[in-house]
Amino acid sequence: MLEVHKLSVSYGKHAALRDVSLRVDRGEIVVILGANGAGKSSLLKACAGLVAKHENSAVALSGKDLTDLAAHRIVEAGLALVPEGRGIFGDLTVRENLELGAFAKRARASEKENLARVIDLFPKLSERLDQAARTMSGGEQQMVAIGRALMSNPDILLLDEPSLGLSPIMTSDLFKALTAIQKTGVGVLLVEQNARQSLAISDRGYLIENGAITGQDTALALQSDPAVQKAFLGLGAA
Ligand code: ATP
Repeated sequence: MLEVHKLSVSYGKHAALRDVSLRVDRGEIVVILGANGAGKSSLLKACAGLVAKHENSAVALSGKDLTDLAAHRIVEAGLALVPEGRGIFGDLTVRENLELGAFAKRARASEKENLARVIDLFPKLSERLDQAARTMSGGEQQMVAIGRALMSNPDILLLDEPSLGLSPIMTSDLFKALTAIQKTGVGVLLVEQNARQSLAISDRGYLIENGAITGQDTALALQSDPAVQKAFLGLGAA
């Protein structure tokens, strides 16, 4: 289980996150909903060890304290981030991108099995393994980015706006893949602009406003919450 306790992040004088606490169990999908600039990416980056946290912040995975670990040690502990914009290496082939994800010690022995699982999840990648990643479509590149994170054999996957720039069909395929990942026992913490589709596949969700959690509930309850409908689902009175 991922446990985030009183996580705070500042950029200079700007407080981007204040005392954010949340948890994600293995095998569940949890969505973070918030307006632009609310602090969603900062939350994922801080969990992944990519931005500095305030002193009282704590991040733990299955009881192991990750708070002060370097980013590569956090991957080693079982937390993998798919960053906004995907972060894949365009000049490398799909296979090489995936292999980079298997660098973690925890994943080296099971590289073949993990690659088979990624191909099973995204069959399109199997015909494209030797193609330069930059020549893939946006949706295919997102598959490579998620596949690369899965190659580290994570317990929890962090995803920052994975549907950004994807067509409706690609988006729907992506959300199906996330459900398939969840079924393998991996927990998913998802930041998404697409509130409707992400709530539809999520178990629970948190609302974040100006760097602080302002609400949390089951995805079902959030879907029928008038404030959520108005802010994120385009329903209700303006
Ligand atoms: P979006 O949906 O627009 O990506 P977000 O909810 O992911 O937004 P963050 O990217 O976490 O929000 O940013 C939170 C706040 O911190 C914003 O006000 C942003 O301008 C600020 N911020 C983010 N990164 C930096 C940085 N490297 N330096 C200074 N300020 C930053």
